[in-house]
Amino acid sequence: MTDPTTPDQTAVADPRRAIYRRWRAQRFAEVVGQDPIVNTLRRAVATDRIVHAYLFVGPRGTGKTSTARILAKAINCLNRGEDGEPCDTCAACVAIRDGRALDVIEIDAASHGLVEDARDLVMRALTAPADLRRRVYIIDEVHMLSPHAFNALLKLIEEPPDHVVFILATTDTHRVPPTIISRTQRHDFRRLPTDVIAAKLTRITSAEGVTADPEALELIARLADGGMRDAESLLDQVMAYAGDRVEESSVRDAVGLADEEAIGGLLDVLVAGAAPDALQRIADLSDAGRDLGQVAQQLETEGRRRLLTVAADAASARRLAAVLRATSEAGTAGAREGRARLLLELIAIDVGSPLPVTASVAKPATEMSPVQRSAEPPPKKPATPRAASVAPPPALGPVATPVESAPAAEIPAAKPSPAPVVPNGERPSLETIRGRWGEVVERASPVVKPLIKECRPYQLDGARLTLAFPEGREFLRGRVVERSRA
Ligand SMILES: [Zn+2]
Repeated sequence: MTDPTTPDQTAVADPRRAIYRRWRAQRFAEVVGQDPIVNTLRRAVATDRIVHAYLFVGPRGTGKTSTARILAKAINCLNRGEDGEPCDTCAACVAIRDGRALDVIEIDAASHGLVEDARDLVMRALTAPADLRRRVYIIDEVHMLSPHAFNALLKLIEEPPDHVVFILATTDTHRVPPTIISRTQRHDFRRLPTDVIAAKLTRITSAEGVTADPEALELIARLADGGMRDAESLLDQVMAYAGDRVEESSVRDAVGLADEEAIGGLLDVLVAGAAPDALQRIADLSDAGRDLGQVAQQLETEGRRRLLTVAADAASARRLAAVLRATSEAGTAGAREGRARLLLELIAIDVGSPLPVTASVAKPATEMSPVQRSAEPPPKKPATPRAASVAPPPALGPVATPVESAPAAEIPAAKPSPAPVVPNGERPSLETIRGRWGEVVERASPVVKPLIKECRPYQLDGARLTLAFPEGREFLRGRVVERSRA
């Protein structure tokens, strides 16, 4: 089943892709987790009912391109089985497998969305195949084609030359014109279940002579989130790190994943609003070499799991939901842009205010931001009709530099209670906040400190505190705006 003969230089040069390339399915029987599609295609080949255009839809790494190539082989195989399976050994199959077949044309629309290519596509499609029975176009990420290219493609699909088959693949059907979709036979590839991925990883490791704990492969399978290609790349990465003995801990170390206890502990303190403890734990995880983008995602996963168990307890569920909302942002945006640590620290500060809050704005709980909700001592939640004196959130949008920290009440500060990051309750004066701004800054971590140190309590209008951010800190400003409107 392994095919080490594929003369693919990149497979040699890039060890991270070696397993994926070597274990790529070469026949219908080797495609995992997509049985209904494979069976349909195999039957179509066997009964000679190949259509002119197929649309393969599904998440990345679920076998769309591999299946497209196998279909191209099956269509052109010189020695095809009764069941529609390509032999994978005849000249046509081998040429296609090695990427040498002139009549199997793979186009990555993500990098070829241009008009010239569209024209070229039409011209070439009209000529007869050079060496195979039928010419097969495999257009990957077809949603990325330019409008011109789509038009050219549409014309071809409307009146396809007999010798041409199009296999269009996409992760995003919403961006494929309906006129194209309606002229194709659509197949939806599903995310692979964890056990299916783990089973293939087990086959791979035993064939490669690697000792792997089932828990380790299970973890890789879960991390791959339904994509076999990601799972195989991850396995490569772990093997490069751990050698021939793959354990769960080596998977965690290789991908910078924190263990479940650490995640559970961090989530506990976040939900409890214990900011200093949370900041310390974030620093510890970072020092231990954990990828904080991953940590945010782990927090989200664990939080979602808990949400199901605490759903009956509305208060806990709401606090947890607030943390979840924040961590899911940190997990996606943060991981992508390499500032997950900062985002996590901001969450810790947001959800946990150690500063005293003496009263709370009577605002419906469902509308309260994570900041306000978590800062609220639950037993003291006042049911007094404070709402009467509460002004509606300011209608004005944020101006260029200053930013409202949160919509709040027009209640004059009666008692010094500087809570500029938790703008609810009775309000201190602007001078008090300015005077004690250093305390707020001091509680922040080394990463956050310089950022909020640079902003200044700018204006206090009733209970509306405006922070001034220096130029070039739009990111932080954006975060505060988002938060205040959450
Ligand atoms: Zn063949």
